[in-house]
Amino acid sequence: MRRHAYHLTTFGCQMNEHDSERVKGMLEALGYVEADQRGEADLILFNTCSIRERADERFIAHLQEAAALKRRAQGTVIGVGGCWAQSVKHEVFERFPYVDVAFGPGQVHKLAEFLTSESLSAQGFFEFESFTGDLPPRRARPHQGWLQVSVGCNCVCSYCIVPSTRGREVSRDPETLLTEVRRQVADGVSEVTLLGQNVNSYGRDLPPGRRTSFADLLARVDAVEGVRRIRYTSPHPKDMREDVIRAHVELPALCEHIHLPLQSGASTVLKRMRRTYTRERYLDRVALIREQLPDCALTTDIIVGFPGETEAEFEQTLSLVDAVGYDGAFTFLYSPRRGTEAATLGEQVAHEVKVQRLERLVDVVQRRAAERAQRFVGRSLEVLIEGPSRTDPARLRGRTRHNKVVNFDGLGEPGDYVDVEISGASSQTLTGAMSLVARAAH
Ligand code: SF4
Repeated sequence: MRRHAYHLTTFGCQMNEHDSERVKGMLEALGYVEADQRGEADLILFNTCSIRERADERFIAHLQEAAALKRRAQGTVIGVGGCWAQSVKHEVFERFPYVDVAFGPGQVHKLAEFLTSESLSAQGFFEFESFTGDLPPRRARPHQGWLQVSVGCNCVCSYCIVPSTRGREVSRDPETLLTEVRRQVADGVSEVTLLGQNVNSYGRDLPPGRRTSFADLLARVDAVEGVRRIRYTSPHPKDMREDVIRAHVELPALCEHIHLPLQSGASTVLKRMRRTYTRERYLDRVALIREQLPDCALTTDIIVGFPGETEAEFEQTLSLVDAVGYDGAFTFLYSPRRGTEAATLGEQVAHEVKVQRLERLVDVVQRRAAERAQRFVGRSLEVLIEGPSRTDPARLRGRTRHNKVVNFDGLGEPGDYVDVEISGASSQTLTGAMSLVARAAH
């Protein structure tokens, strides 16, 4: 009997990547197989993002293509999950009558109930019920595992839709998390990434007897036999406390990389963004990190062109980026998101001004990142192999503990840890080779 085939397209953040691994694991536990092409699938799924309106428009184009496939192949089931589905929960079936099932980030498990139920049409599931982390994963990379430690966010950043699509912060029980880490290690995972919208505020909502701080959780994951590397995303500067920074000094598996979203270098803009920290407070955190972890890689997120951003305010972002010298940065053009406070603000910055500022910012980011990366040249760094190099298939590609991508000559399989002599560095990547001794040992 032909097994049902599914096709899943994922948009957005690492939390969605994590959730999609769980959707795939759940479907394969139900006997589904993954189709290479959307057109070959009986079940067409989308795990959606809602951070930017343009993301919506792009996604709807994909949805309409699925509708066309459904018209040609009666019986095809279309499902949408994730933040966009949650944000249009009241109108999804009316606006998109060819959608059969819709579910929010906290209802992924309902898809299984829906698929095994009598009626395969027009069912929506949106109240937060359980963590997708409880579902079996089908990992994209067998040696790297996501660990969802919490859902939701209690912050109220004025440009962000996440609190309304993913709800308030709910932390997972620490014992449940450690059991999952042990299970991941037994499955071959050696690098664990802790995931949360605001990962370093973990544990505050746990009941008194179970209260665990983020730093405590890191220490307990570090203590699990077989965990070789720990990463986490995304932290908030207001919760980057000294115990978390000290954990980077003390815990062997906790990697030398901290992603610390800045968004803007001007306190006046940070106030309008409701980021709850100032330029000075942010620089104070950076100084503490640099004092205790001079070699730690620091990356960030920056929004350009937030409503009302003046040239002087933008200059403050440039000067802060130059002063800090990040190892990398994700830079975004501000775009209004319906349903957010910032979208109602006046003084929207002209598009061409935003683009021009973004170019100037990227220049500073890349210049400083290239300067910072020179510290690796001449050193031997441990690299976790991910596969063949994307620029030269004869070479290998992997990541250092600093989360720097390395293209190198050497031997090994995905999941192997090897020592690589670094011979060159650019703002984006490092280059090098395994020593003959290392190759012989491999
Ligand atoms: S911290 Fe701010 S930007 Fe991040 S998810 Fe929460 S509300 Fe959104």
